[in-house]
Amino acid sequence: MKNNYKKVSSHGSINIPVAMRREIGIQGGDPMEVALNNGVVTVKPYTPRCVFCGSTENVKKLFGKGICPECAAKAVQKMEGSGK
Ligand SMILES: [Zn+2]
Repeated sequence: MKNNYKKVSSHGSINIPVAMRREIGIQGGDPMEVALNNGVVTVKPYTPRCVFCGSTENVKKLFGKGICPECAAKAVQKMEGSGK
């Protein structure tokens, strides 16, 4: 893929070309992970992580936070066990 030259906005934003967004499957509003390594900034889709146990396996987003199936099942048990 050819290099693209982009200007940084006054807010620090850079537009990612639509072809690149399509290729890696990101949409507006998706969380991205930004890292700095020896002067090179890398930007990649943020892998959702379970906020309860830290797992990255089959994590789904719930109200903007990650949750894994195991913790979701525990949450259901907890709610059902509340007596309401
Ligand atoms: Zn979990």
